[in-house]
Amino acid sequence: MKVVRFHAPGDVRFEDVPEPEAGPGEVKIRVRNCSTCGTDVKISKFGHHHIHPPRVMGHEIAGEIVTVGDGVDGWAPGDRVQVIAAIPCGECDECRRGRMTICPNQVSMGYHFEGGFAQFMVVPKEVLKVDGLNRIPEGVSFAEASVAEPLACALNAQNLARVGEGDDVVVIGSGPIGCLHVRLARARGAARVFLVELSRQRLEMAANLVKPDAAICAAEVDPIEAVLELTGGRGADVIITAAASGKAQEQAIQMAARQGRISFFGGLPKDKPTITCDSNLVHYRELMIIGANGSSPAHNKQALDLVATGAVPVADLITHRLPLDGAIDAFGIVERGEAIKVTIEP
Ligand SMILES: [Zn+2]
Ligand SMILES: [Zn+2]
Repeated sequence: MKVVRFHAPGDVRFEDVPEPEAGPGEVKIRVRNCSTCGTDVKISKFGHHHIHPPRVMGHEIAGEIVTVGDGVDGWAPGDRVQVIAAIPCGECDECRRGRMTICPNQVSMGYHFEGGFAQFMVVPKEVLKVDGLNRIPEGVSFAEASVAEPLACALNAQNLARVGEGDDVVVIGSGPIGCLHVRLARARGAARVFLVELSRQRLEMAANLVKPDAAICAAEVDPIEAVLELTGGRGADVIITAAASGKAQEQAIQMAARQGRISFFGGLPKDKPTITCDSNLVHYRELMIIGANGSSPAHNKQALDLVATGAVPVADLITHRLPLDGAIDAFGIVERGEAIKVTIEP
Protein backbone atom coordinates (compact mmCIF):
# COMPACT_ATOMS: atom_id res chain seq x y z
CA MET A 1 0.00 0.00 0.00
CA LYS A 2 0.97 3.63 -0.38
CA VAL A 3 1.86 5.78 2.62
CA VAL A 4 3.40 9.14 3.44
CA ARG A 5 6.26 8.57 5.85
CA PHE A 6 8.50 10.83 7.86
CA HIS A 7 12.16 9.75 7.65
CA ALA A 8 14.01 12.81 8.91
CA PRO A 9 13.45 16.58 9.12
CA GLY A 10 12.88 17.72 5.53
CA ASP A 11 12.66 14.10 4.32
CA VAL A 12 9.04 12.97 3.99
CA ARG A 13 8.40 10.29 1.35
CA PHE A 14 5.43 8.96 -0.57
CA GLU A 15 6.26 5.25 -0.72
CA ASP A 16 5.19 1.62 -0.74
CA VAL A 17 5.04 -0.47 2.43
CA PRO A 18 3.44 -3.84 3.24
CA GLU A 19 -0.23 -3.58 4.19
CA PRO A 20 -0.65 -3.91 8.00
CA GLU A 21 -2.91 -6.54 9.57
CA ALA A 22 -5.10 -6.16 12.65
CA GLY A 23 -3.79 -8.17 15.60
CA PRO A 24 -5.83 -9.23 18.63
CA GLY A 25 -7.70 -6.28 20.11
CA GLU A 26 -7.13 -4.15 17.00
CA VAL A 27 -9.17 -2.97 14.04
CA LYS A 28 -7.94 -2.31 10.50
CA ILE A 29 -9.45 0.55 8.55
CA ARG A 30 -9.40 1.79 4.98
CA VAL A 31 -8.51 5.45 5.49
CA ARG A 32 -10.96 7.69 3.60
CA ASN A 33 -9.84 11.07 4.87
CA CYS A 34 -6.89 12.26 6.89
CA SER A 35 -6.76 16.02 7.23
CA THR A 36 -3.62 18.10 7.63
CA CYS A 37 -2.78 20.76 10.17
CA GLY A 38 0.10 22.95 11.26
CA THR A 39 1.46 20.10 13.36
CA ASP A 40 2.13 18.05 10.22
CA VAL A 41 4.13 20.95 8.78
CA LYS A 42 6.14 21.21 12.00
CA ILE A 43 6.86 17.47 12.04
CA SER A 44 7.90 17.41 8.39
CA LYS A 45 10.37 20.25 8.96
CA PHE A 46 11.68 19.58 12.45
CA GLY A 47 10.64 16.06 13.42
CA HIS A 48 9.40 15.38 16.95
CA HIS A 49 11.05 13.76 19.96
CA HIS A 50 8.26 11.17 20.14
CA ILE A 51 8.68 10.12 16.52
CA HIS A 52 11.19 7.39 15.79
CA PRO A 53 11.38 7.23 12.00
CA PRO A 54 10.27 5.96 9.66
CA ARG A 55 6.74 6.79 10.73
CA VAL A 56 3.50 7.18 8.76
CA MET A 57 2.23 10.68 9.54
CA GLY A 58 -1.34 11.93 9.94
CA HIS A 59 -3.62 12.21 12.98
CA GLU A 60 -6.99 13.63 11.81
CA ILE A 61 -8.34 10.28 10.72
CA ALA A 62 -11.63 8.91 9.37
CA GLY A 63 -12.26 5.67 7.51
CA GLU A 64 -14.10 2.45 7.14
CA ILE A 65 -13.45 -0.79 9.02
CA VAL A 66 -12.16 -3.63 6.83
CA THR A 67 -11.17 -6.25 9.41
CA VAL A 68 -11.79 -6.70 13.11
CA GLY A 69 -9.12 -8.42 15.20
CA ASP A 70 -9.77 -11.22 17.69
CA GLY A 71 -11.40 -10.14 20.90
CA VAL A 72 -12.88 -6.90 19.58
CA ASP A 73 -16.62 -6.55 20.20
CA GLY A 74 -19.11 -4.09 18.80
CA TRP A 75 -17.42 -3.35 15.48
CA ALA A 76 -17.89 -4.87 12.03
CA PRO A 77 -16.46 -4.46 8.53
CA GLY A 78 -18.12 -1.51 6.80
CA ASP A 79 -18.56 0.56 9.97
CA ARG A 80 -17.65 4.23 9.41
CA VAL A 81 -15.29 5.46 12.11
CA GLN A 82 -13.28 8.42 13.36
CA VAL A 83 -10.11 7.85 15.38
CA ILE A 84 -8.84 9.97 18.28
CA ALA A 85 -5.36 11.46 17.86
CA ALA A 86 -4.18 11.78 21.48
CA ILE A 87 -4.49 8.53 23.40
CA PRO A 88 -4.66 8.72 27.20
CA CYS A 89 -3.68 5.69 29.27
CA GLY A 90 -7.00 5.50 31.10
CA GLU A 91 -5.32 4.35 34.32
CA CYS A 92 -3.23 7.13 35.85
CA ASP A 93 -4.33 9.61 38.53
CA GLU A 94 -5.35 12.23 35.96
CA CYS A 95 -7.27 9.79 33.77
CA ARG A 96 -9.10 8.39 36.80
CA ARG A 97 -10.08 11.95 37.70
CA GLY A 98 -11.53 12.34 34.19
CA ARG A 99 -8.76 14.70 33.04
CA MET A 100 -7.72 12.70 30.04
CA THR A 101 -6.26 15.61 28.06
CA ILE A 102 -3.42 15.93 30.56
CA CYS A 103 -2.58 12.25 30.92
CA PRO A 104 1.21 12.16 31.42
CA ASN A 105 1.36 8.80 29.64
CA GLN A 106 -0.40 10.10 26.54
CA VAL A 107 0.65 8.60 23.21
CA SER A 108 -0.50 9.72 19.76
CA MET A 109 -1.48 8.53 16.32
CA GLY A 110 1.18 9.45 13.78
CA TYR A 111 3.78 9.71 16.57
CA HIS A 112 3.96 6.50 18.60
CA PHE A 113 1.67 4.66 16.16
CA GLU A 114 1.42 4.64 12.38
CA GLY A 115 -0.85 7.48 11.25
CA GLY A 116 -3.52 8.09 8.68
CA PHE A 117 -1.65 9.25 5.59
CA ALA A 118 -1.98 5.70 4.28
CA GLN A 119 -4.43 3.58 2.35
CA PHE A 120 -4.86 1.30 5.35
CA MET A 121 -4.19 1.78 9.04
CA VAL A 122 -4.44 -0.36 12.16
CA VAL A 123 -6.29 1.21 15.06
CA PRO A 124 -4.16 0.15 18.05
CA LYS A 125 -5.69 -1.57 21.06
CA GLU A 126 -4.68 1.46 23.15
CA VAL A 127 -7.30 3.49 21.24
CA LEU A 128 -10.05 0.90 21.65
CA LYS A 129 -9.25 0.53 25.36
CA VAL A 130 -10.15 4.19 26.05
CA ASP A 131 -13.20 4.18 23.73
CA GLY A 132 -11.37 6.26 21.17
CA LEU A 133 -12.87 4.70 18.05
CA ASN A 134 -16.02 6.64 17.25
CA ARG A 135 -18.93 5.81 14.99
CA ILE A 136 -19.46 8.54 12.38
CA PRO A 137 -23.06 9.74 12.66
CA GLU A 138 -25.29 9.36 9.62
CA GLY A 139 -25.15 12.33 7.29
CA VAL A 140 -21.58 13.21 8.30
CA SER A 141 -19.01 12.60 5.54
CA PHE A 142 -15.58 11.08 6.12
CA ALA A 143 -14.00 14.46 5.35
CA GLU A 144 -16.16 16.23 7.93
CA ALA A 145 -15.48 13.46 10.45
CA SER A 146 -11.74 13.95 10.03
CA VAL A 147 -12.19 17.52 11.27
CA ALA A 148 -13.81 16.26 14.49
CA GLU A 149 -10.34 15.91 16.03
CA PRO A 150 -9.32 19.59 15.79
CA LEU A 151 -12.88 20.58 16.72
CA ALA A 152 -12.57 18.39 19.82
CA CYS A 153 -9.44 20.33 20.81
CA ALA A 154 -11.33 23.62 20.38
CA LEU A 155 -14.17 22.19 22.46
CA ASN A 156 -11.80 21.28 25.29
CA ALA A 157 -10.42 24.84 25.32
CA GLN A 158 -13.87 26.47 25.27
CA ASN A 159 -15.09 24.20 28.06
CA LEU A 160 -12.09 25.17 30.19
CA ALA A 161 -12.58 28.89 29.36
CA ARG A 162 -16.34 28.51 29.97
CA VAL A 163 -17.38 30.19 26.72
CA GLY A 164 -21.12 30.73 26.98
CA GLU A 165 -24.23 32.88 26.64
CA GLY A 166 -23.61 36.58 26.20
CA ASP A 167 -19.83 36.45 26.06
CA ASP A 168 -17.85 38.74 23.80
CA VAL A 169 -15.18 36.42 22.39
CA VAL A 170 -11.97 37.29 20.54
CA VAL A 171 -10.20 34.63 18.49
CA ILE A 172 -6.61 35.51 17.53
CA GLY A 173 -5.45 33.55 14.49
CA SER A 174 -7.66 32.78 11.50
CA GLY A 175 -6.35 29.37 10.46
CA PRO A 176 -8.56 26.28 10.58
CA ILE A 177 -8.47 26.21 14.38
CA GLY A 178 -9.39 29.89 14.59
CA CYS A 179 -12.32 29.29 12.24
CA LEU A 180 -13.50 26.34 14.34
CA HIS A 181 -13.26 28.48 17.48
CA VAL A 182 -15.40 31.22 15.90
CA ARG A 183 -18.09 28.71 14.90
CA LEU A 184 -18.00 26.88 18.22
CA ALA A 185 -18.25 30.11 20.24
CA ARG A 186 -21.36 31.03 18.28
CA ALA A 187 -22.85 27.59 18.85
CA ARG A 188 -22.30 28.10 22.59
CA GLY A 189 -24.23 31.37 22.61
CA ALA A 190 -21.50 33.99 22.46
CA ALA A 191 -22.93 37.48 21.99
CA ARG A 192 -20.25 38.62 19.54
CA VAL A 193 -17.15 36.99 18.10
CA PHE A 194 -14.22 39.03 16.79
CA LEU A 195 -11.48 37.55 14.66
CA VAL A 196 -7.92 38.94 14.78
CA GLU A 197 -5.22 37.99 12.26
CA LEU A 198 -1.94 39.48 11.04
CA SER A 199 -2.29 38.61 7.37
CA ARG A 200 -4.97 40.61 5.58
CA GLN A 201 -5.32 37.88 2.95
CA ARG A 202 -5.80 35.07 5.48
CA LEU A 203 -8.18 37.21 7.51
CA GLU A 204 -10.42 37.84 4.51
CA MET A 205 -10.44 34.20 3.44
CA ALA A 206 -11.52 33.14 6.95
CA ALA A 207 -13.93 36.02 7.53
CA ASN A 208 -15.75 35.25 4.28
CA LEU A 209 -16.45 31.77 5.62
CA VAL A 210 -17.11 32.22 9.32
CA LYS A 211 -18.46 35.79 9.31
CA PRO A 212 -17.14 37.20 12.59
CA ASP A 213 -18.83 40.34 13.97
CA ALA A 214 -15.57 42.16 13.28
CA ALA A 215 -12.45 41.12 11.38
CA ILE A 216 -9.40 42.90 12.75
CA CYS A 217 -6.14 42.96 10.80
CA ALA A 218 -3.43 43.20 13.45
CA ALA A 219 -0.90 44.42 10.89
CA GLU A 220 -3.03 47.48 10.17
CA VAL A 221 -4.52 48.45 13.54
CA ASP A 222 -3.68 47.84 17.19
CA PRO A 223 -5.89 44.85 18.04
CA ILE A 224 -6.08 45.83 21.73
CA GLU A 225 -7.46 49.28 20.87
CA ALA A 226 -9.80 47.77 18.29
CA VAL A 227 -11.28 45.31 20.80
CA LEU A 228 -11.61 47.98 23.50
CA GLU A 229 -13.39 50.22 21.04
CA LEU A 230 -15.78 47.46 19.93
CA THR A 231 -16.63 46.67 23.55
CA GLY A 232 -17.10 50.24 24.79
CA GLY A 233 -13.82 50.10 26.70
CA ARG A 234 -14.79 46.97 28.64
CA GLY A 235 -12.68 44.39 26.84
CA ALA A 236 -13.60 40.85 25.82
CA ASP A 237 -14.95 38.18 28.16
CA VAL A 238 -12.92 35.46 26.48
CA ILE A 239 -9.82 35.66 24.29
CA ILE A 240 -8.51 32.56 22.55
CA THR A 241 -5.04 32.63 21.02
CA ALA A 242 -5.03 30.23 18.08
CA ALA A 243 -1.57 31.27 16.93
CA ALA A 244 1.96 30.30 17.98
CA SER A 245 2.70 33.86 19.01
CA GLY A 246 3.89 35.23 22.32
CA LYS A 247 2.85 38.69 21.20
CA ALA A 248 -0.70 37.44 20.62
CA GLN A 249 -0.72 36.03 24.17
CA GLU A 250 0.49 39.35 25.60
CA GLN A 251 -2.16 41.24 23.62
CA ALA A 252 -4.83 38.80 24.77
CA ILE A 253 -4.14 39.63 28.43
CA GLN A 254 -4.38 43.34 27.68
CA MET A 255 -7.71 43.14 25.84
CA ALA A 256 -9.50 41.11 28.52
CA ALA A 257 -12.51 42.46 30.40
CA ARG A 258 -12.59 42.22 34.18
CA GLN A 259 -12.84 38.53 35.12
CA GLY A 260 -11.95 37.78 31.51
CA ARG A 261 -10.75 34.30 30.59
CA ILE A 262 -7.74 33.92 28.32
CA SER A 263 -7.17 30.60 26.60
CA PHE A 264 -3.61 29.95 25.47
CA PHE A 265 -4.79 27.45 22.87
CA GLY A 266 -1.76 27.60 20.63
CA GLY A 267 1.61 26.67 22.12
CA LEU A 268 4.73 28.76 21.59
CA PRO A 269 7.94 27.75 19.82
CA LYS A 270 10.15 25.64 22.13
CA ASP A 271 13.03 28.11 21.91
CA LYS A 272 10.79 31.09 22.74
CA PRO A 273 8.30 29.96 25.37
CA THR A 274 8.23 33.05 27.62
CA ILE A 275 6.06 36.16 27.47
CA THR A 276 5.75 39.39 29.44
CA CYS A 277 2.65 39.50 31.59
CA ASP A 278 1.55 42.50 33.67
CA SER A 279 0.72 40.45 36.72
CA ASN A 280 -1.20 43.35 38.26
CA LEU A 281 -3.67 43.22 35.39
CA VAL A 282 -4.29 39.57 36.27
CA HIS A 283 -4.54 40.44 39.98
CA TYR A 284 -6.80 43.50 39.97
CA ARG A 285 -9.00 42.47 37.07
CA GLU A 286 -9.35 38.88 38.31
CA LEU A 287 -8.22 37.49 34.97
CA MET A 288 -7.98 33.78 34.36
CA ILE A 289 -5.27 32.44 32.06
CA ILE A 290 -6.03 28.91 30.98
CA GLY A 291 -4.07 26.32 29.01
CA ALA A 292 -5.46 23.77 26.59
CA ASN A 293 -3.83 20.52 25.52
CA GLY A 294 -5.57 18.45 22.86
CA SER A 295 -8.76 16.56 23.47
CA SER A 296 -10.19 13.50 25.20
CA PRO A 297 -12.09 10.61 23.60
CA ALA A 298 -15.33 12.15 24.94
CA HIS A 299 -14.53 15.51 23.30
CA ASN A 300 -14.16 13.71 19.95
CA LYS A 301 -17.60 12.13 20.32
CA GLN A 302 -19.12 15.49 21.25
CA ALA A 303 -17.40 17.12 18.27
CA LEU A 304 -18.92 14.55 15.90
CA ASP A 305 -22.34 15.36 17.40
CA LEU A 306 -21.77 19.10 16.93
CA VAL A 307 -21.07 18.45 13.26
CA ALA A 308 -23.97 15.99 12.86
CA THR A 309 -26.55 18.35 14.37
CA GLY A 310 -25.32 21.28 12.29
CA ALA A 311 -24.36 23.26 15.42
CA VAL A 312 -20.81 23.59 14.05
CA PRO A 313 -20.69 23.19 10.27
CA VAL A 314 -17.28 22.17 8.96
CA ALA A 315 -17.86 21.08 5.34
CA ASP A 316 -17.21 24.56 3.93
CA LEU A 317 -13.98 24.87 5.95
CA ILE A 318 -12.50 22.02 3.89
CA THR A 319 -11.16 24.13 1.04
CA HIS A 320 -8.72 21.65 -0.52
CA ARG A 321 -8.95 17.90 -1.23
CA LEU A 322 -5.84 16.09 -2.43
CA PRO A 323 -4.90 12.45 -3.10
CA LEU A 324 -2.32 10.73 -0.91
CA ASP A 325 0.59 11.59 -3.21
CA GLY A 326 -0.36 15.25 -2.75
CA ALA A 327 0.24 15.20 1.01
CA ILE A 328 3.67 16.78 0.77
CA ASP A 329 2.22 19.56 -1.42
CA ALA A 330 -0.55 19.90 1.15
CA PHE A 331 1.99 20.74 3.87
CA GLY A 332 3.20 23.61 1.69
CA ILE A 333 -0.35 24.86 1.16
CA VAL A 334 -0.94 24.76 4.93
CA GLU A 335 2.37 26.46 5.69
CA ARG A 336 1.73 29.28 3.23
CA GLY A 337 -1.74 29.85 4.67
CA GLU A 338 -3.44 29.38 1.31
CA ALA A 339 -6.16 27.11 2.64
CA ILE A 340 -8.44 26.75 5.61
CA LYS A 341 -8.51 22.95 5.87
CA VAL A 342 -6.66 20.63 3.50
CA THR A 343 -7.81 17.01 3.57
CA ILE A 344 -6.04 14.03 2.06
CA GLU A 345 -8.15 11.31 0.43
CA PRO A 346 -5.93 8.18 0.23
ZN1 LIG B 1 -4.00 18.36 13.86
ZN1 LIG C 1 -3.49 8.56 32.02
